[in-house]
Amino acid sequence: MSQRSITLEIYEIKKEIDDYFSIYFKKPKNFVYHPGDCFDLIITKDTFKEKRIFSFSSSPTERLLQITYRKGISQYKKYLENMTKGDTLELLYFGNQYSFYYEKPLVFFAGGIGITVFKSALQYAIDNKLQPSINLLFINKTDRFPFMNILDEYKKFLNLTIHYYQTSKEGRLTKDKLKEILPSIMDIKYEYYIAGPPLMVDSTSDLLRKFGIDDKTIHTDSFDGYLEETR
Ligand SMILES: Cc1cc2nc3c(=O)[nH]c(=O)nc-3n(C[C@H](O)[C@H](O)[C@H](O)COP(=O)(O)OP(=O)(O)OC[C@H]3O[C@@H](n4cnc5c(N)ncnc54)[C@H](O)[C@@H]3O)c2cc1C
Repeated sequence: MSQRSITLEIYEIKKEIDDYFSIYFKKPKNFVYHPGDCFDLIITKDTFKEKRIFSFSSSPTERLLQITYRKGISQYKKYLENMTKGDTLELLYFGNQYSFYYEKPLVFFAGGIGITVFKSALQYAIDNKLQPSINLLFINKTDRFPFMNILDEYKKFLNLTIHYYQTSKEGRLTKDKLKEILPSIMDIKYEYYIAGPPLMVDSTSDLLRKFGIDDKTIHTDSFDGYLEETR
Protein backbone atom coordinates (compact mmCIF):
# COMPACT_ATOMS: atom_id res chain seq x y z
CA MET A 1 0.00 0.00 0.00
CA SER A 2 1.27 3.46 -0.91
CA GLN A 3 0.39 6.34 1.42
CA ARG A 4 1.35 9.17 -0.93
CA SER A 5 -1.27 11.88 -1.35
CA ILE A 6 -1.78 12.65 -5.05
CA THR A 7 -3.87 15.40 -6.62
CA LEU A 8 -6.20 14.15 -9.35
CA GLU A 9 -7.72 16.47 -11.95
CA ILE A 10 -11.07 15.57 -13.47
CA TYR A 11 -10.86 15.08 -17.23
CA GLU A 12 -14.41 13.95 -17.96
CA ILE A 13 -17.62 12.82 -16.25
CA LYS A 14 -19.87 10.31 -17.95
CA LYS A 15 -23.25 8.85 -17.11
CA GLU A 16 -23.06 5.08 -17.56
CA ILE A 17 -26.66 4.03 -16.88
CA ASP A 18 -29.40 5.24 -14.52
CA ASP A 19 -27.60 6.40 -11.33
CA TYR A 20 -24.17 5.02 -12.25
CA PHE A 21 -21.55 7.63 -13.18
CA SER A 22 -17.88 7.45 -14.12
CA ILE A 23 -15.28 10.10 -13.40
CA TYR A 24 -12.15 10.09 -15.56
CA PHE A 25 -8.98 11.67 -14.21
CA LYS A 26 -5.76 12.62 -15.93
CA LYS A 27 -3.19 9.99 -14.95
CA PRO A 28 -0.37 11.59 -12.91
CA LYS A 29 3.15 10.96 -14.23
CA ASN A 30 4.71 7.66 -13.12
CA PHE A 31 1.49 6.58 -11.42
CA VAL A 32 1.52 2.79 -11.07
CA TYR A 33 -1.41 0.65 -9.92
CA HIS A 34 -2.81 -2.85 -10.39
CA PRO A 35 -6.16 -4.03 -11.74
CA GLY A 36 -8.87 -3.68 -9.14
CA ASP A 37 -6.78 -1.58 -6.74
CA CYS A 38 -8.73 0.70 -4.45
CA PHE A 39 -7.89 3.99 -2.80
CA ASP A 40 -9.22 6.75 -0.55
CA LEU A 41 -10.66 9.73 -2.42
CA ILE A 42 -10.81 12.89 -0.32
CA ILE A 43 -13.16 15.78 -0.98
CA THR A 44 -12.27 19.04 0.72
CA LYS A 45 -14.76 21.90 0.29
CA ASP A 46 -14.86 24.81 2.77
CA THR A 47 -15.16 23.13 6.21
CA PHE A 48 -16.15 19.78 4.68
CA LYS A 49 -13.48 17.10 4.50
CA GLU A 50 -14.41 13.44 4.03
CA LYS A 51 -13.12 10.41 2.19
CA ARG A 52 -14.56 7.27 0.64
CA ILE A 53 -12.87 4.24 -0.80
CA PHE A 54 -13.16 3.65 -4.56
CA SER A 55 -11.85 0.95 -6.88
CA PHE A 56 -10.33 1.80 -10.23
CA SER A 57 -12.75 0.80 -12.97
CA SER A 58 -10.01 1.57 -15.50
CA SER A 59 -7.12 -0.76 -16.25
CA PRO A 60 -3.54 0.36 -15.52
CA THR A 61 -2.97 -0.09 -19.27
CA GLU A 62 -5.35 2.79 -20.07
CA ARG A 63 -4.46 6.44 -20.59
CA LEU A 64 -6.90 7.84 -18.02
CA LEU A 65 -7.86 6.82 -14.49
CA GLN A 66 -11.53 5.98 -14.04
CA ILE A 67 -13.80 5.45 -11.06
CA THR A 68 -17.47 4.54 -11.20
CA TYR A 69 -19.95 5.25 -8.45
CA ARG A 70 -23.64 5.08 -7.70
CA LYS A 71 -25.44 8.31 -6.87
CA GLY A 72 -26.26 8.58 -3.19
CA ILE A 73 -27.76 10.57 -0.37
CA SER A 74 -24.68 11.47 1.69
CA GLN A 75 -23.09 14.92 1.72
CA TYR A 76 -19.97 13.36 0.20
CA LYS A 77 -21.93 12.03 -2.79
CA LYS A 78 -23.69 15.37 -3.22
CA TYR A 79 -20.30 17.07 -3.53
CA LEU A 80 -19.03 14.32 -5.84
CA GLU A 81 -22.11 14.66 -8.08
CA ASN A 82 -21.52 18.40 -8.44
CA MET A 83 -17.90 18.08 -9.54
CA THR A 84 -16.99 19.27 -13.02
CA LYS A 85 -14.09 19.00 -15.48
CA GLY A 86 -10.95 20.63 -14.07
CA ASP A 87 -11.92 20.15 -10.40
CA THR A 88 -9.36 18.38 -8.25
CA LEU A 89 -9.58 15.70 -5.54
CA GLU A 90 -6.96 14.02 -3.38
CA LEU A 91 -6.12 10.36 -3.74
CA LEU A 92 -4.53 8.70 -0.74
CA TYR A 93 -3.41 5.26 0.35
CA PHE A 94 -4.00 2.93 -2.56
CA GLY A 95 -3.42 -0.77 -3.03
CA ASN A 96 -5.27 -4.06 -2.76
CA GLN A 97 -5.53 -7.12 -0.59
CA TYR A 98 -5.19 -9.58 -3.48
CA SER A 99 -3.93 -10.08 -7.02
CA PHE A 100 -5.62 -11.64 -10.01
CA TYR A 101 -4.18 -15.09 -10.78
CA TYR A 102 -4.49 -14.87 -14.55
CA GLU A 103 -2.69 -18.18 -15.02
CA LYS A 104 -5.63 -20.01 -13.38
CA PRO A 105 -9.30 -20.45 -14.36
CA LEU A 106 -11.22 -17.61 -12.73
CA VAL A 107 -14.76 -16.97 -11.55
CA PHE A 108 -15.83 -13.37 -10.90
CA PHE A 109 -18.97 -12.55 -8.89
CA ALA A 110 -19.96 -8.89 -9.26
CA GLY A 111 -22.79 -7.41 -7.19
CA GLY A 112 -24.04 -4.21 -8.90
CA ILE A 113 -21.36 -1.53 -8.46
CA GLY A 114 -18.82 -4.31 -7.67
CA ILE A 115 -18.40 -4.68 -11.44
CA THR A 116 -15.83 -1.83 -11.30
CA VAL A 117 -13.12 -4.21 -10.06
CA PHE A 118 -13.77 -6.72 -12.85
CA LYS A 119 -14.02 -4.16 -15.61
CA SER A 120 -10.49 -3.13 -14.63
CA ALA A 121 -9.28 -6.76 -14.48
CA LEU A 122 -10.87 -7.75 -17.81
CA GLN A 123 -9.55 -4.72 -19.71
CA TYR A 124 -6.10 -5.48 -18.26
CA ALA A 125 -6.31 -9.09 -19.49
CA ILE A 126 -7.25 -7.90 -23.00
CA ASP A 127 -4.47 -5.32 -23.20
CA ASN A 128 -1.88 -7.85 -22.03
CA LYS A 129 -3.25 -10.63 -24.28
CA LEU A 130 -3.88 -12.89 -21.27
CA GLN A 131 -6.19 -15.80 -21.99
CA PRO A 132 -7.42 -17.40 -18.77
CA SER A 133 -10.85 -19.00 -18.75
CA ILE A 134 -13.11 -16.47 -16.99
CA ASN A 135 -16.70 -16.89 -15.85
CA LEU A 136 -18.36 -13.64 -14.81
CA LEU A 137 -21.57 -13.90 -12.84
CA PHE A 138 -23.03 -10.39 -12.67
CA ILE A 139 -25.74 -10.08 -10.02
CA ASN A 140 -28.02 -7.04 -10.14
CA LYS A 141 -31.47 -6.22 -8.86
CA THR A 142 -32.84 -5.10 -12.23
CA ASP A 143 -31.95 -5.79 -15.87
CA ARG A 144 -30.11 -2.41 -16.01
CA PHE A 145 -26.60 -3.83 -15.71
CA PRO A 146 -23.88 -1.13 -15.82
CA PHE A 147 -21.18 -1.63 -18.50
CA MET A 148 -23.24 -4.37 -20.23
CA ASN A 149 -22.21 -3.25 -23.74
CA ILE A 150 -18.53 -3.07 -22.84
CA LEU A 151 -18.61 -6.44 -21.10
CA ASP A 152 -20.30 -8.10 -24.07
CA GLU A 153 -17.66 -6.56 -26.33
CA TYR A 154 -14.89 -8.02 -24.10
CA LYS A 155 -16.14 -11.54 -24.99
CA LYS A 156 -14.68 -11.07 -28.50
CA PHE A 157 -11.17 -10.80 -27.05
CA LEU A 158 -11.24 -13.10 -24.04
CA ASN A 159 -12.16 -16.65 -23.12
CA LEU A 160 -15.04 -15.09 -21.17
CA THR A 161 -18.52 -16.35 -20.31
CA ILE A 162 -20.97 -13.88 -18.76
CA HIS A 163 -24.12 -14.76 -16.91
CA TYR A 164 -26.36 -11.79 -16.04
CA TYR A 165 -28.38 -12.66 -12.96
CA GLN A 166 -31.35 -10.47 -12.05
CA THR A 167 -32.44 -10.94 -8.43
CA SER A 168 -35.84 -9.22 -8.85
CA LYS A 169 -36.72 -11.92 -11.43
CA GLU A 170 -34.67 -14.97 -10.45
CA GLY A 171 -34.60 -14.55 -6.66
CA ARG A 172 -31.55 -14.96 -4.48
CA LEU A 173 -28.66 -16.97 -5.81
CA THR A 174 -28.84 -20.42 -4.21
CA LYS A 175 -26.57 -23.46 -4.29
CA ASP A 176 -28.79 -25.21 -6.86
CA LYS A 177 -29.00 -22.12 -9.09
CA LEU A 178 -25.25 -21.64 -8.97
CA LYS A 179 -24.71 -25.31 -9.87
CA GLU A 180 -27.01 -24.82 -12.87
CA ILE A 181 -25.19 -21.68 -14.02
CA LEU A 182 -21.69 -23.04 -13.40
CA PRO A 183 -21.79 -26.87 -13.43
CA SER A 184 -17.97 -27.00 -13.56
CA ILE A 185 -17.89 -25.62 -10.00
CA MET A 186 -18.05 -29.28 -8.95
CA ASP A 187 -14.80 -30.34 -10.59
CA ILE A 188 -12.66 -27.36 -11.70
CA LYS A 189 -10.32 -25.69 -9.21
CA TYR A 190 -11.08 -22.02 -9.83
CA GLU A 191 -9.85 -18.89 -8.11
CA TYR A 192 -12.97 -16.99 -6.99
CA TYR A 193 -13.27 -13.20 -6.77
CA ILE A 194 -16.29 -11.48 -5.24
CA ALA A 195 -16.90 -7.71 -5.25
CA GLY A 196 -19.97 -5.71 -4.25
CA PRO A 197 -22.02 -4.62 -1.25
CA PRO A 198 -21.05 -6.44 1.99
CA LEU A 199 -24.27 -8.48 2.19
CA MET A 200 -23.74 -9.81 -1.34
CA VAL A 201 -20.07 -10.59 -0.67
CA ASP A 202 -20.88 -12.46 2.54
CA SER A 203 -23.78 -14.47 1.09
CA THR A 204 -21.76 -15.44 -2.01
CA SER A 205 -18.74 -16.46 0.11
CA ASP A 206 -21.06 -18.61 2.28
CA LEU A 207 -22.49 -20.19 -0.86
CA LEU A 208 -19.02 -21.14 -2.11
CA ARG A 209 -18.16 -22.64 1.28
CA LYS A 210 -21.24 -24.90 0.92
CA PHE A 211 -19.47 -26.42 -2.09
CA GLY A 212 -16.47 -27.13 0.15
CA ILE A 213 -14.35 -24.55 -1.68
CA ASP A 214 -11.11 -23.68 0.08
CA ASP A 215 -11.24 -20.21 1.68
CA LYS A 216 -7.74 -19.53 0.32
CA THR A 217 -9.17 -19.47 -3.23
CA ILE A 218 -11.93 -16.98 -2.34
CA HIS A 219 -10.87 -13.31 -2.68
CA THR A 220 -13.29 -10.61 -1.60
CA ASP A 221 -13.75 -6.87 -2.04
CA SER A 222 -16.53 -5.69 0.24
CA PHE A 223 -17.87 -2.24 -0.71
CA ASP A 224 -18.75 -0.97 2.80
CA GLY A 225 -21.25 1.87 2.75
CA TYR A 226 -23.75 0.12 0.46
CA LEU A 227 -26.25 -1.34 2.88
CA GLU A 228 -28.51 -3.36 0.60
CA GLU A 229 -27.54 -6.61 -1.18
CA THR A 230 -27.95 -5.30 -4.74
CA ARG A 231 -29.96 -2.47 -6.22
C1 LIG B 1 -12.59 -1.77 -0.94
C2 LIG B 1 -13.75 -0.85 -1.31
C3 LIG B 1 -13.93 -0.48 -2.64
C4 LIG B 1 -15.00 0.35 -3.00
N1 LIG B 1 -15.18 0.69 -4.31
C5 LIG B 1 -16.23 1.47 -4.67
C6 LIG B 1 -16.46 1.84 -6.04
O1 LIG B 1 -15.67 1.50 -6.94
N2 LIG B 1 -17.55 2.59 -6.33
C7 LIG B 1 -18.44 3.01 -5.36
O2 LIG B 1 -19.44 3.67 -5.69
N3 LIG B 1 -18.25 2.68 -4.07
C8 LIG B 1 -17.18 1.93 -3.70
N4 LIG B 1 -16.98 1.61 -2.39
C9 LIG B 1 -17.97 2.11 -1.40
C10 LIG B 1 -17.69 3.58 -1.08
O3 LIG B 1 -16.50 3.72 -0.34
C11 LIG B 1 -18.87 4.19 -0.27
O4 LIG B 1 -18.94 3.56 0.98
C12 LIG B 1 -20.19 4.02 -1.02
O5 LIG B 1 -20.09 4.61 -2.29
C13 LIG B 1 -21.32 4.67 -0.24
O6 LIG B 1 -21.10 6.06 -0.22
P1 LIG B 1 -21.73 7.01 0.89
O7 LIG B 1 -21.31 6.57 2.24
O8 LIG B 1 -21.36 8.39 0.51
O9 LIG B 1 -23.27 6.74 0.88
P2 LIG B 1 -24.41 6.88 -0.24
O10 LIG B 1 -23.90 6.53 -1.59
O11 LIG B 1 -25.08 8.17 -0.08
O12 LIG B 1 -25.35 5.68 0.22
C14 LIG B 1 -25.71 5.43 1.60
C15 LIG B 1 -26.79 4.35 1.59
O13 LIG B 1 -27.99 4.90 1.06
C16 LIG B 1 -28.40 4.12 -0.07
N5 LIG B 1 -28.99 5.02 -1.07
C17 LIG B 1 -28.33 5.77 -1.98
N6 LIG B 1 -29.20 6.49 -2.71
C18 LIG B 1 -30.42 6.17 -2.25
C19 LIG B 1 -31.72 6.57 -2.60
N7 LIG B 1 -31.95 7.47 -3.57
N8 LIG B 1 -32.75 6.05 -1.90
C20 LIG B 1 -32.55 5.17 -0.90
N9 LIG B 1 -31.33 4.74 -0.53
C21 LIG B 1 -30.30 5.24 -1.18
C22 LIG B 1 -27.15 3.47 -0.57
O14 LIG B 1 -27.42 2.33 -1.35
C23 LIG B 1 -26.45 3.14 0.72
O15 LIG B 1 -26.96 1.97 1.28
C24 LIG B 1 -15.91 0.80 -2.01
C25 LIG B 1 -15.70 0.45 -0.66
C26 LIG B 1 -14.63 -0.36 -0.32
C27 LIG B 1 -14.43 -0.72 1.14
